[in-house]
Amino acid sequence: MADADVVIIGAGLAGLSAARTLRRAGASVVVLEARDRVGGRTFSQRTESGVIDLGGQWIGPTQLRMQALVSELGIATFPTFHEGRKVLELGGRLSTYQGEIPSLAPHKLALMQWALKYLDRKMKQVPLADPWNAARAAGLDAVTLDTWRRRRMPSRDIRGVLDVGTRVVFGAEASEISLLYFLAYLHAGGGFMKLVGIKDCAQQDRFVEGAQTVALHLAAELGDRVALGAPVRAIRHSPEGVVVETEGRTNGQAHRRTWVGRRAIVAIPPMLAGRITYDPPMPALRDQLTQRVPMGATIKCHALYERPFWREQGYSGEAACDGDPITVVFDNTSHDDLQPGLLGFIVGRAARLWSGRDPEERRAAVLAAYARFFGPEAARPIEYVEKDWSVDPWAGGCPVGVMAPGTLTSLGPALRRPISRLHWAGTETALEWTGYMEGAVESGERAAREAAAAL
Ligand SMILES: Cc1cc2nc3c(=O)[nH]c(=O)nc-3n(C[C@H](O)[C@H](O)[C@H](O)COP(=O)(O)OP(=O)(O)OC[C@H]3O[C@@H](n4cnc5c(N)ncnc54)[C@H](O)[C@@H]3O)c2cc1C
Repeated sequence: MADADVVIIGAGLAGLSAARTLRRAGASVVVLEARDRVGGRTFSQRTESGVIDLGGQWIGPTQLRMQALVSELGIATFPTFHEGRKVLELGGRLSTYQGEIPSLAPHKLALMQWALKYLDRKMKQVPLADPWNAARAAGLDAVTLDTWRRRRMPSRDIRGVLDVGTRVVFGAEASEISLLYFLAYLHAGGGFMKLVGIKDCAQQDRFVEGAQTVALHLAAELGDRVALGAPVRAIRHSPEGVVVETEGRTNGQAHRRTWVGRRAIVAIPPMLAGRITYDPPMPALRDQLTQRVPMGATIKCHALYERPFWREQGYSGEAACDGDPITVVFDNTSHDDLQPGLLGFIVGRAARLWSGRDPEERRAAVLAAYARFFGPEAARPIEYVEKDWSVDPWAGGCPVGVMAPGTLTSLGPALRRPISRLHWAGTETALEWTGYMEGAVESGERAAREAAAAL
């Protein structure tokens, strides 16, 4: 007797969107979630005066599925604050500027313009559904973004600006990312500036009650069809159906269960999908793929204050830095201004380095950076909260899995292709806005349509 038509692994936005789509198609579902909460890489936490997001938090105007969900579910958003002077620190030199154009020498700005135009042109030559079939895909996938930037960008400052954006978007270094993968990722989101910008871009709006609200609403619709504290360890699959084994621990008590379905959707990052035991085992292409999509590294660092003192001094709260430990900072004040805050990211190599250090030392280094950017008051928050996603076993890092050279062209086709009765979702498998909440929703809906068609 089946527990459901489709067993879904993971109650992030991908798994929950898959469940919603399947139920609307008349199929029954059960969603198995390892953690004791839903939302995955979205995770909102209440503070005394508001709410902060420890995971994904911004939504952009061209993220149409998320926009539709938000309006359908009646979830409130508000614009990200970005008025005033911005701070740029390159090679230890600090400068400020207004508007969109950093205060750099004209020849450097010209180089930056050229690089952005070049990337825009190149990304459009990489097809979203099969980037491995792009013209000269093998050559683009044989080098890293770092190789390209060293060859084509003869300015340390401009390389630094590109590094800031790359590190924050991927949680990884240019030397870890295939140029083909980078171009495909830019294309999926509409271009480099769309990924890193605020107005009209990916960081345009925030969620009044935190981004996890979307997952909480979707899970509420599903009721007891979501099982929490149910880490999937093994999946047996055959022409008859799937048997999914969970093995968890509640209050120190181990519990095991099997869940029987006609099909399964694995809605977790490829790296975590590779930690599940499959019987029969996955074919070589799929197994090798899951060995080659390492997660980026991100530590999100919130500092809350009595007053938005930076605004009072004409700063927008934005800072970008090519040094260590903080790469970017944003104003993160709540929608009602009751909770003034700055939010900074430690990402990539710095995140791996600082992850192992004493939390007090890390906090001091983060606040010292905020103080360098916005003055001494920044060193005295009323509250400091951080989350290191690399030490979270159900993420393994964040915000997204990234591909080094050779992966897309040799293993890319295994990313979405169903195997037996198993379908693959998760933002890493999305065609549009890969790596974002939008991509997660798209992937869940696509995997659900695949599974529903095959039931
Ligand atoms: C710090 C940070 C900042 C980000 N910023 C943004 C942003 O501003 N805007 C944006 O759009 N996106 C952002 N993202 C990315 C966004 O959060 C993700 O793309 C999206 O939430 C991914 O959803 P998903 O369902 O694909 O995967 P996940 O959210 O990772 O969901 C997978 C779920 O599966 C569970 N799971 C894993 N393994 C198992 C198992 N074996 N058995 C059972 N359950 C399992 C996990 O616990 C998790 O709940 C950010 C992410 C992070 C971490």
